[in-house]
Parts: sequence; C-alpha cells; structure tokens
Amino acid sequence: MSEAIAANRTILVVGGGISGLTTAIEAAEAGADVLLVERNPYLGGRVAQLNKYFPKLCPPSCGLEINFRRIKANPRVKVFTMTEVSGIAGEEGNFQVTLKTSPRYVNERCTACGKCAEACEAEVANPFNFGMDRMKAAYLPHDMAFPLRYVVDPSVLGTPDQKRIVDACAYGAVDFDMQARNVTLTVGSIVWATGWDPYEAGNLHAYGFGTFPNVITNMMIERLAAVGGPTKGRIVRPSDGKEAKNVAIIHCAGSRDEFHLPFCSRICCMAALKEAQFVREQYPDSKVTLYYIDIRALDTLEDFYVKVKNDPNVTFIKSKVAAIQQDEATGDLILQGENTTARERYLNRHDLVVLATGMNPTTAREKVPVEVVTDQYGFVAADSGRPGIHAAGCARGPLDVAAAVQQSTAAALKAIQSISRR
Ligand SMILES: Cc1cc2nc3c(=O)[nH]c(=O)nc-3n(C[C@H](O)[C@H](O)[C@H](O)COP(=O)(O)OP(=O)(O)OC[C@H]3O[C@@H](n4cnc5c(N)ncnc54)[C@H](O)[C@@H]3O)c2cc1C
Ligand code: SF4
Repeated sequence: MSEAIAANRTILVVGGGISGLTTAIEAAEAGADVLLVERNPYLGGRVAQLNKYFPKLCPPSCGLEINFRRIKANPRVKVFTMTEVSGIAGEEGNFQVTLKTSPRYVNERCTACGKCAEACEAEVANPFNFGMDRMKAAYLPHDMAFPLRYVVDPSVLGTPDQKRIVDACAYGAVDFDMQARNVTLTVGSIVWATGWDPYEAGNLHAYGFGTFPNVITNMMIERLAAVGGPTKGRIVRPSDGKEAKNVAIIHCAGSRDEFHLPFCSRICCMAALKEAQFVREQYPDSKVTLYYIDIRALDTLEDFYVKVKNDPNVTFIKSKVAAIQQDEATGDLILQGENTTARERYLNRHDLVVLATGMNPTTAREKVPVEVVTDQYGFVAADSGRPGIHAAGCARGPLDVAAAVQQSTAAALKAIQSISRR
C-alpha cells in the first residue's frame, strides 16, 4: 500500500464527513495523493444522517453522491474506512502516522445482496438511527452507504451466527480471519476533519431525555423523518407510535449555557425551523411550538425564518423552558416556563418534544494524537501551532454544510502548500 504512494507529498485527511471528503477531493483534483481515513464503515459523516438540508429542503444524498463519484473516479484518493489514527510523529513534509483498522469481516467481493443479514439471527442496536431501532448483526450501515459493503458486528464471533453468515454468502465475501491491523505510513501534511458529536442530551436533567421516551433530540427527528429511518419517515412518538401532531422544539438545549455548551452552534435554529417544516408537511393539521431565546438566522437564511414564521400553525414562544414533566397516563409532556414577551407563566402540553442540542467538537472528547492548539471548547485553532497540521469543517468550529465545504477547500490549499514547501 505505502509503495504506491509517494512519501512526503501525500496528504492524510482524518474524518470522512462532508469536510474531509471535500478536502480530499479538492486536494486530489489539484494533483496531490490523499489518504482519507474514516472511523465509521461508511463515508459522509453526520450529513448522511440528515433527512433534508435547510433552507431548500433538498436531500443530502444528492451532494454526497456527487462526491462519492468524484472519489471513485480519482485514483489519487485511497479510502480507509473503520480506521483511526493512533499515532503521529515527525514534522511537516515528513510525518509518520500510524493507522489502526478494525476488521469489517466482509471483503471487497461483497455485492450487497443482503443474504448474510437474512441468515443472521442476532440483532444489535442501530447507531445510525441513534438506537431507535435494531438491525441484524450482519448489516449495511444505511441504504446509501459508501462503500456499498456489508459489515459484521464482532458480537457474532463464536456464536452459531458465524457459520450461518459464512454459509449464506455465495461470493466468499465473509472473512472471519480478518484482524485489526496497524500500519505506519509517511505523509507530508495532515488535515484533521473529525467533525462534531451531538451534545449529550442526558446531561440536561430538567428535560428528562432518556427517562421520558417522547423527549428526543434534533438528530433523532432527522432520522424519524427520513424514509430510510426507523419509522420509514413517519414522525411518530417513540412511546406508542402515535402520530406526533403537537410538537415542541426547544432551541439552545444546553447551548449558550456555561454548565453545558457555552457557545452558539449557529445551525441549530435553522435546523429547528427545518424540523418544524418536516412535521407541518407531514401532518397538515399539526401544530409546532418553538421555544427560543433568540432566532439566529444569518444572511439570506432570514427568508427561511420568515417563511416558517408566517405559518399560522407554528408558534414562537420566547422562553428558556425551565422543566419538563411527563403525564404518566398519556406519555404527553408538560413544559413549564415563562413567556418573556407576554410575561406569563405557562404549563404547555405537547405530545413530542425535540431538544435542539448543539455541536460538540469530537476533539473535545478525543484529543488529536499529537499536541495542537485548541480553543476553550476543544475546536482546533486556525493555526494549529504545528506546521503541516491543519483542521477543516466542524473540527474548527460549528458550521453549516456550505461553510464547512468552503473552509475545507481552504484547508486543502493549506495542505498543498505544506507538501509543496519541501
Ligand atoms: C440537528 C442538525 C441538523 C443539521 N442540518 C443541517 C442542514 O440542514 N444544512 C446544513 O447546511 N447543515 C446542517 N447541519 C450541520 C452539518 O451537520 C455540519 O455542517 C456537517 O456535519 C459538518 O461536516 P464535518 O465533516 O465537518 O463533520 P461530521 O459530519 O461530524 O463528519 C466528521 C467525520 O469524521 C469521522 N471521525 C470522527 N473522529 C474520527 C477519528 N478519530 N478518526 C477517523 N474518523 C473520525 C466521523 O465518523 C465523521 O464521519 C445540521 C446539524 C445539526 C446538529
Ligand atoms: S457479504 Fe456476501 S451475503 Fe452479505 S451482502 Fe455481501 S455478498 Fe451478500
């Protein structure tokens, strides 16, 4: 593998979300050799989990498809899924990086026929749908997965499913001899594009996430609304499958709060307006109430805000919700707080509550395996303090897709400058 790639003039991109994809493709199309490393068994990152993009409400799969085609057509990009970087040493133009790849137990002969999943009896929680459903332990991560190749969960090792799965595959694609592999390669520059995690909603004790089944997060409603999601696109309550027609969305759930995420994630207001649209489009008689501190709709996104605001079935209440209680008999949620415009206390009943949680940098939880400069929230600084190492997309700050793509193109240029200096 390493012989095929010119040492020192290769760029390592860590994270295969929209930012890492963009950096990799832009750098490769400018003539650089690129290694693209992604921890998940598929590329696309969080964007692959979104139902639609604001403000046009178009599906993210279109943009991802175009990027996947560009990657397939470009031999300069080598993709490593289920891979992480465990070590970095050296300097700009001559970094030694150690990559650790976990076994997929399915090789490139896989045609995605799905026979292994049919034969497998064990099920595991589906992380792509935030555990709202279960999937077979031999699985395709999601309908649009790239690479289009199955994965076998290691929990089947040593169980009768192991033989059933091997026997079911007519293509010899299942390989339980695969082992975790470590490989050390030389690269000239590194772009860190590891993105974000949803802020942990369980930390918001007053809102009952994890205790009240009908309190979900903004990313969960993206999956509920998606045709490939756990309910095939029906926005229903997790507790009883009832259509969610009286929905509350709580903006800034944990954001701009010194005890949780002190900063504004910039996109959650727009995502909340979009998710209000998902409900309104699905159920014409539905009502959505948005509880907000202030609405952050920048530039041309103001038009989208005005459009949603003009819907008479969408209500905006300026309030930080103080607490949520559950009506044990119905599973409804009672929201308590003060409407600061009307100066009135309220006790409002809803059948589903969506917490618009913010974006926590993955680098807050998991450090880059070499010292780089981060801000107080864990985002990698524009100047990483380490020549040759750059950050892109939401590893740098909370961004929407358009801004992440622009920023990642800039990171590709920085990386090309790094490999061109030597
Ligand atoms: C609820 C919600 C809705 C949104 N809706 C929209 C929208 O409608 N329109 C819009 O423009 N934006 C939207 N966004 C923002 C959008 O999700 C981000 O702009 C986008 O995900 C940024 O992409 P990224 O590649 O920087 O990060 P990510 O999407 O997080 O991708 C990072 C990738 O890196 C991988 N990774 C992480 N750590 C490692 C590691 N150590 N090694 C290897 N790989 C690693 C991850 O598995 C992931 O694939 C929304 C955000 C939220 C919270
Ligand atoms: S591993 Fe084999 S059985 Fe499973 S989807 Fe791939 S080709 Fe089909």
